[in-house]
Amino acid sequence: AIPLVVAISTAVSAKNGLLIRNRTAFENSRNITTILFDKTGTLTQGSHAVAQVVTFGEGISKQEMLRLAAGVEQNSEHYIALGILKKAKEEGITVPPSQSFNYLPGKGLEGQVEGKDIKVVGPTYIKEYTIAVPANAAEEGVETVVYVMIEGQVVGYITLRDQIRPESAEAIRVLKENGIKNLLITGDNERVAKSVSQALGMDGYMANVLPHEKLEKAKELQAKGEFVAMTGDGVNDAPALAQADVGIAVGSGTDVAAETADIILVNSNPQDIASLILFGKATYRKMI
Ligand code: ADP
Ligand code: MG
Repeated sequence: AIPLVVAISTAVSAKNGLLIRNRTAFENSRNITTILFDKTGTLTQGSHAVAQVVTFGEGISKQEMLRLAAGVEQNSEHYIALGILKKAKEEGITVPPSQSFNYLPGKGLEGQVEGKDIKVVGPTYIKEYTIAVPANAAEEGVETVVYVMIEGQVVGYITLRDQIRPESAEAIRVLKENGIKNLLITGDNERVAKSVSQALGMDGYMANVLPHEKLEKAKELQAKGEFVAMTGDGVNDAPALAQADVGIAVGSGTDVAAETADIILVNSNPQDIASLILFGKATYRKMI
């Protein structure tokens, strides 16, 4: 008899570009009861485009803030960084070199640019260190927001817009139809998380989630008896991909995500995730 893994992988991988790293986890994918979906780059395209550049007060121009932000972001491969660098390029800005940098997982980036301490960080960082931020419209918009800090002071913010992948809605629909619970889990803010999960008709969402909290969330669900899959593409998703019963890395993504996952879906198509599970169920039924 053909082992299950071969039967499934032949049919699915031919079409979808599927790499199996852990055969047992792969075979168990038919048992999944809950899927945690990373938002950025998984359900969305990760095609972040800068929407607004806003400075607080007259102390700094938008161009100058963008220039310094781009200086530190050139060290990051995050979608946010790519969006900010693209904007800087469009504005004809020469991006200054950074002397050092430090990645703040799930929170942002800090570094030295022209002798100044520059940070580009999300709301999670601002909250954690109770940093003073003037009241601002970004806190109501449905966009990803990052604050720019110079020497510990917030000087303004940049908002970015992403797009939901056209295939995501159908993927969620199919999963729901088959009784598989689906939750959005993201380090992004509440408004973006809610908007994406509602647009896709998902069962729920969790926002402002740090990388280690993604792992905790998977554990919590497992403790309640759920058989959990986690899908993601980023370094930040790696701990949760390892914790989940089935870790699915999508897309070209990052090497770290791919090295941690049980299954890699080479094309970043969320429909492949649904296909994988349903095909596993169907094949297993035929074989017993
Ligand atoms: P997701 O869970 O949606 O994949 P991440 O965990 O990658 O999101 O990022 C969570 C948050 O951390 C972002 O929304 C942003 O606020 C902040 N962040 C991450 N990387 C960067 C970066 N390079 N520059 C600025 N902020 C960042
Ligand atoms: Mg991600």
